[in-house]
Amino acid sequence: MSGNSTDVIVIGGGTGGYSTALRAAHLGLGVTLVERDLVGGTCLHRGCVPSKAMLHAAELVDGVAEARERWGVKATLDSVDWSALVATRDDIVSRNHKGVEGQLSAAGVTVVRGTATLAGPRTVRVDVPGAGGTELWTARRGLVLATGSRPRTLPGLEPTGEHLVTSDDALFAPGLPRSVLVLGGGAIGVEYASFHRSMGAEVTLVEAAERLLPLEDADVSRQLTRALKKRGITVLTGARLLDAHLTGAPPADAHRSGAGQTGAGQTGAGQTGAGAPGGGVAARVQPARGDAMLITAERLLVAVGRVPVTDGLNLAAAGLTTDERGHVPPADWATLETAVPGVYVVGDLLPPPSLGLAHASFAEGLVVAETLAGLAPRPVDYAAVPRVTYSSPQTASVGLSEAAAKDAGHEVAVNMLPLTATAKGMVHGQGGMVKVVAEPGPDGRVLGVHLVGPHVSEMISESQLAVAWDASPADIAQHIHPHPTLSEAVGETFLTLAGRGLHQHA
Ligand code: FAD
Repeated sequence: MSGNSTDVIVIGGGTGGYSTALRAAHLGLGVTLVERDLVGGTCLHRGCVPSKAMLHAAELVDGVAEARERWGVKATLDSVDWSALVATRDDIVSRNHKGVEGQLSAAGVTVVRGTATLAGPRTVRVDVPGAGGTELWTARRGLVLATGSRPRTLPGLEPTGEHLVTSDDALFAPGLPRSVLVLGGGAIGVEYASFHRSMGAEVTLVEAAERLLPLEDADVSRQLTRALKKRGITVLTGARLLDAHLTGAPPADAHRSGAGQTGAGQTGAGQTGAGAPGGGVAARVQPARGDAMLITAERLLVAVGRVPVTDGLNLAAAGLTTDERGHVPPADWATLETAVPGVYVVGDLLPPPSLGLAHASFAEGLVVAETLAGLAPRPVDYAAVPRVTYSSPQTASVGLSEAAAKDAGHEVAVNMLPLTATAKGMVHGQGGMVKVVAEPGPDGRVLGVHLVGPHVSEMISESQLAVAWDASPADIAQHIHPHPTLSEAVGETFLTLAGRGLHQHA
């Protein structure tokens, strides 16, 4: 076994790990990054990037119908070539992957391919596959845990790779299903439901909580649910999956049945019927009211959250333990150092208030690297991290929901504006809204901003600054938004709260 030492060892090369490694190396530290799979991790290979590439294709499909139905563009959709879509998606992933590898190499980070196990607080054993043997690495300054998360599965619902899948498997499935039951109405479930509907599938989305995106403002959930239903997605909230099993070929009319239910099967563009010739899944779902329903679909996509990955790490060797949900909590949220001096944690391994988002993990990586380099970085401002769901319509929020603001004891003023109140909102014709939650008065603090509609992922950043910088509606109303844009709706919402509403006079 060879023995090596360096300043910093990072375990896990996802967004949390590679950002730590890059920044630490840029600051002159010797860095070894241990990754057992591919640098870029979940976000690049199974999460943010491939899913958003697919959602872009979905937007194009939706655009054909809009072009024909609203704009007199005589376009028709022939078919979607899944393998071509996958090829473009994978090319984007592959180019990004090469980019990250190149950046790590240029920064002088030593990337060790293998599985890391802790052998002490700052000592790591790496099992290198093949004839690589075992390497022992010791960190002089610090060890950073960045082993991320994987999809949560439910007992009896272990993925089969085609008919019963997680978000990971859905990427690599052999084709597009004609019907999908999505279990879980969080961001991942909503995005996949939206994608499959655009691709013509019959989609049922089941969420146990009373509303989709239960952590978001209630108006966001309401508007999103309404829009998804309008697109033909069956949304069942407050609903529980009772059981599910793989079936042979379900009959073509067996999509949904149950007491009190009629065959409300949706029919997407160019797609008819339900059930795969090669089989599918039959699930019993208990809706909020009424009898249990039998739902059959070609694919059941389980999107019920993610669990931190620590198995095989041997945390005990470093004197570390996990919390009850498997996260590794820091002892100090300002530096993300654990209770064991010199051991840090970033990314999906962290419990809330970290958010399980790639952009939060980038910020965490910067903080840890700068701390290890002896700088005094500002802590991550979790209250101002934007949250986006890239469905159609998109949702984007920052700060407190109206209910959370009231629960926190704030007196609040709320203003909502439909995007269609603006010319550009009418052009897009997809509905949507801006909702601002602020302390009362033009000079009250902005507490939260909540957007629903097309392209709102690109519109949230100004509101992020407003929340982070304790700006007031009067501060933002001072700044002129370009006309005609969707972002004007944000400006107008603030103008009204500042007492200067032009098109929306309070
Ligand atoms: P990961 O990216 O999971 O990386 C951990 C790495 O550690 C992995 O590469 C793994 O191989 C490696 N590893 C684990 N154990 C060991 C070991 N013992 N030895 C060596 N290596 C090890 N976030 C967003 O911000 N925006 C989005 O749009 C978005 N969309 C998403 C869509 C989907 C479908 C999913 C699943 C997630 C999405 N996320 C999104 C969340 C985002 O992907 C994660 O928050 C982010 O990837 C977490 O990064 P991480 O570095 O903590 O962990």
